Amino acid sequence: MPATHEVLNQSAPLEAYNLFSRNAALADALAFNLPRARLAGARERLSALGAELGRRETLALADAANRYAPELKTHDARGRRRDEVEFHPAWHALMAIAFRHGLHSAPWSAPGAGAHVERAAGYLLYSEVENGTQCPVTMTYGAVPAIKADPRVAAQWLPRIYSREKDAALIGMGLTEKQGGSDVRTNTTRAVARGDGSYAITGHKWFLSAPMCDAFLVLAQAPGGLSCFFLPRLRADGGVNGILIQRLKDKLGNRSNASSEVEFEDAQATLLGEEGRGVPMILEMGVYTRLDCAIGTAGLMRQALAQALWNAAQRQAFGKLLRDQPLMKNVLADLALESEAATALVLRLSKAYDAEDGMLLRRVLTPAAKFWVCKRGSHFGQEAMEAVGGNGYVEEQVLARIYREMPLNSIWEGAGNVMCLDVLRALRKAPDVVAALAAELDAAAGRSHSYDAFCASLKDRLADAAEHESAARRLTQDLALALQASLLARHAPDFVFDAFVASRLGAPWTGAFGTLAPNAPFDALIARAMPA
Ligand SMILES: Cc1cc2nc3c(=O)[nH]c(=O)nc-3n(C[C@H](O)[C@H](O)[C@H](O)COP(=O)(O)OP(=O)(O)OC[C@H]3O[C@@H](n4cnc5c(N)ncnc54)[C@H](O)[C@@H]3O)c2cc1C
Repeated sequence: MPATHEVLNQSAPLEAYNLFSRNAALADALAFNLPRARLAGARERLSALGAELGRRETLALADAANRYAPELKTHDARGRRRDEVEFHPAWHALMAIAFRHGLHSAPWSAPGAGAHVERAAGYLLYSEVENGTQCPVTMTYGAVPAIKADPRVAAQWLPRIYSREKDAALIGMGLTEKQGGSDVRTNTTRAVARGDGSYAITGHKWFLSAPMCDAFLVLAQAPGGLSCFFLPRLRADGGVNGILIQRLKDKLGNRSNASSEVEFEDAQATLLGEEGRGVPMILEMGVYTRLDCAIGTAGLMRQALAQALWNAAQRQAFGKLLRDQPLMKNVLADLALESEAATALVLRLSKAYDAEDGMLLRRVLTPAAKFWVCKRGSHFGQEAMEAVGGNGYVEEQVLARIYREMPLNSIWEGAGNVMCLDVLRALRKAPDVVAALAAELDAAAGRSHSYDAFCASLKDRLADAAEHESAARRLTQDLALALQASLLARHAPDFVFDAFVASRLGAPWTGAFGTLAPNAPFDALIARAMPA
């Protein structure tokens, strides 16, 4: 067949590169948040992960896992119930990478100063590549504190959860029911004591992701009120434990992951904590899963940015590389600022999980970071996709998948409004929270007039915390922006901090990307963020 044309002016795929060693923003945030003694070792481990994730083969696994969606097998060939989901081999290969690098449990199995920060950096890198597998990884990481509430369950299960092998145990969760997800108090699933110390659970869950997990934390109504239960997937005799998978959700994104609707029929479970204390117990898990939503979105942003920059450095339009076109420079530099600020915020937040005295900050910063970083994610994904043009919209390239993935971190584990209301609750309940936030903001005082003025007015609003519920998004947005600026002041180059403050805190800001002032340091911002 004669060639009709030569393929010209198409960028090479971004592959075979080290995701960690090319991420200057992450390197600086890591150095700021990790104890010095851990830094060299962490860099080595993260570099190994970054190299493994950036391999062409790993990227192909992520593509395959999302292209060949999991399949539900409710029955076997003879009509007996199976209630199993079959995944493409790529899913299992990706899970093995996450296990090997301890993303599901390392801070618990090998605790120590900086353990959550290092894990956060690893999780961020992994987010750049595949997100469905992250769902059970995150739930398992988050479930450990609740599992520790029952010494017998802990003794039996934690060694399996801590394993780095392929057969490490995974934990899922069942909260959401048809009549209410944010408001789990409306749960109707019932728990009846069986007289042998265990309970029988009957009812349904409208969303239960990764239903092949080895066990689930489930909310159900016991005689003493809404309670949290540990529900293994298999009974002691190897049969499925009264979990009937009804169907899999047909989702916008996160396609490699199975999200199911289930019914429980006399499923055997163990109470965690006390009857009636289910919500505080499950929130022990929720803070970690919310943390991961923010980290995950920072990772998605970074990969979207990397793709946009990589393409712009090779693709020409109107006789010039895209990266040299003034208006495209503005878009790319603005995306780079947003990505760096998101990275800074989530790494600082994960440090609050490492320190005893981080409790106050993590209480308020977790919902704030989940709201703001995830809220910016969808807009970010759209803009990065547009920067790549028509190719960005096509499934063969990763930006389409990233774009479909973005809204999820904002919805699950508590949607945006629920996060902002939680920020208000944290501010109103504990005046110490305001003091902890003020200390973070003061750490960068005196660097810029705009920053100081923004923080002064914000601190007043935080202190009286009397803002009406309807203003909670604005307060949370401003809090997140101020904290991001404070962190950039402390560990990013001056030009990053200056550009962030000038665009987000100084002048009225529309939130649209590509609206930096004409004197912004476009080239420096782009050069700092370039992936290869
Ligand atoms: C792909 C996927 C997988 C999931 N996997 C799981 C899982 O494994 N286990 C599980 O338990 N759940 C899971 N969920 C459910 C998820 O956590 C819920 O969808 C989410 O918490 C929102 O609950 P909801 O859908 O009932 O929406 P609703 O509670 O009806 O909320 C709808 C909207 O109302 C807003 N809202 C709620 N209350 C207020 C208020 N007081 N003031 C103002 N606004 C408010 C919310 O912010 C939201 O925007 C999953 C969801 C998805 C999409």
